[in-house]
Amino acid sequence: MKIICIGRNYVMHAKELNNPVPEKPVFFMKPETALLLKNRPFFHPDFSSDIHYEVELVFRINKVGKHIQEKFAHTYYDKIAIGIDLTARDIQAECKSKGLPWEPAKAFDSSAPLSEFISVDDFESVKDISFSLKKDGVEVQHGNSADMLFDIDRIIAYVSQFVTLKIGDLIYTGTPAGVGKIAVGDQFEAFIEGKSMLKMRVK
Ligand code: ZN
Repeated sequence: MKIICIGRNYVMHAKELNNPVPEKPVFFMKPETALLLKNRPFFHPDFSSDIHYEVELVFRINKVGKHIQEKFAHTYYDKIAIGIDLTARDIQAECKSKGLPWEPAKAFDSSAPLSEFISVDDFESVKDISFSLKKDGVEVQHGNSADMLFDIDRIIAYVSQFVTLKIGDLIYTGTPAGVGKIAVGDQFEAFIEGKSMLKMRVK
C-alpha cells in the first residue's frame, strides 16, 4: 500500500507559498508508516520547528490499474476520506533550495493523519465536495474539490502512467490556501460537507 500526494493542486495555495501554478500534476509519496489513524494524537518530532497542516480530500483506489484512461478513472476509486498532509516546511524549504527530494519533509512517521471513509456513492459528484479544517475550534482552511487544478480522474490518469495503482492505495489530492504551523497543544478537527470526520491533538 502506498500514499500518493498531489502538490500545488489549488491555485491559491500555490500562490501563498510563492510556487508557480503547475502545468501537470506534481506528485510525491509517503510510506505506509506515515499513516496516523483512529484520531490518535500526533507527537511533534524534534527535527522540525515548522511543521504545517494541509487538509486534503483523500481517495481510496479499489482496483489495480496502469495507464488508466481519464474517462475510466472514476471506476478506480470507491471511497473518500479526509486527511492532513503534515509537512516540515523548514526542511522542505531547504530541500527545495538545494534541488533535493522532499521525503524528509513529507514522508516522516505519522505525517498522514486519515479519517474513516465515506462511499463515493454518498456524494452527488466527487467534483463538488466541500471540506474544511478547524484549529482549536476556529476554521483555518476550507476548500472544494471543484477548485482543484487537476481533478481526481486527471490525477489517476497522470500518475498511473508512471506508477501502477493497487487496491488500498491512497491519493491525497492537495490542499487549499490557509496552511499554517502546528504547535504542541493544538487540537485540529477536519470536516467533509460540514460533517466532523477527523480529530488530531498535537502532543
Ligand atoms: Zn499537501
